[in-house]
Amino acid sequence: MPSYPKPQFLRGRRILAHLFEHEGDGMVCTMPEPWELVRRQVDFEPMRLHMVQDMAMKTLEALEPDLPDCEVVYGIGGGSAADTAKFVAMKRGCRLVQVPTIVSVDAPLTDAVGVRVDGRVRYIGHVWPDLVAIDYDVIQQAPKRLNRAGCGDLLSIHTALHDWLVAAEAGQAAYDEAIAEQARACLQRVVAAADDIGAVNQAGIDTIVDEYCQEIRLCVEFGGSRPEEGSEHLLAYNYEYRTGRHMAHGELVGTGVYALSVIQGNDPEGIRQVMDRCRLGFRPADNGITRDELVETLRTLNAFRQEHPEDTFYSVLDTVEITEGMIERIMDGLT
Ligand SMILES: [Zn+2]
Repeated sequence: MPSYPKPQFLRGRRILAHLFEHEGDGMVCTMPEPWELVRRQVDFEPMRLHMVQDMAMKTLEALEPDLPDCEVVYGIGGGSAADTAKFVAMKRGCRLVQVPTIVSVDAPLTDAVGVRVDGRVRYIGHVWPDLVAIDYDVIQQAPKRLNRAGCGDLLSIHTALHDWLVAAEAGQAAYDEAIAEQARACLQRVVAAADDIGAVNQAGIDTIVDEYCQEIRLCVEFGGSRPEEGSEHLLAYNYEYRTGRHMAHGELVGTGVYALSVIQGNDPEGIRQVMDRCRLGFRPADNGITRDELVETLRTLNAFRQEHPEDTFYSVLDTVEITEGMIERIMDGLT
């Protein structure tokens, strides 16, 4: 079984001065806002300060020829800063220290280096962080709503586990009962901490970070994302495919969790209450998603799966035809 190298953690308030002193000089990959937050706390002049523009392959390739000979690279910010730092660590073979200033995505904790090629995310390599620094003061300065969005990719376990079983019963996926059981326990811990996640307090931030680690470990051990990714993600991909719009990933996944739990007959009211306690912005109105857009996304969801067999996977969408009655029920539940 492949093993997951859990990073070391440094957690606390106003810990960044200690972090830089201990880890030493190096390259920083960041963006203006998170860097400003760091500079309010500590007067650190890195060997090289790189402001991340985007995650296009071209941008990263242009960065490569003059990377400094550093021993450590810091990814300070959200997903793009984390991925750029992974790219540098991969090219330089140096230590990778991730300093998430927001917990909206799991990129600072994963190993996959995600870049955009022709507008689509491709993974071009792997490197695990050596150390992850969680400064609650910094993270709590990010918009609460975006921090709460982090729970979307954890609550997706609710619908993903159902799809995994559907796929296994049809002989379309390997199933691992022990891993599924641990994923369920992970979901239960998130449910238990829903009010803390909604408050974005220290316990809520810790829950998102710790359960991301658990989820990543389970996916590594299983060798795929079945424990956390199901048809709720296919709804998100179909919505983005149809509209070309992008939004906080966890919120759109939350919309999918509710919608697909209706289609699965999988306790939609229960999971909706949990998402409300987490104060996740999963309702279309939270994101400017129109009724017509969502109805159309649902009407075309079975076809989306059939038309993109390589980019999608077996789920409830292969066994249940979405009816107008289901769509009505979903729309009622989301308003
Ligand atoms: Zn996701």
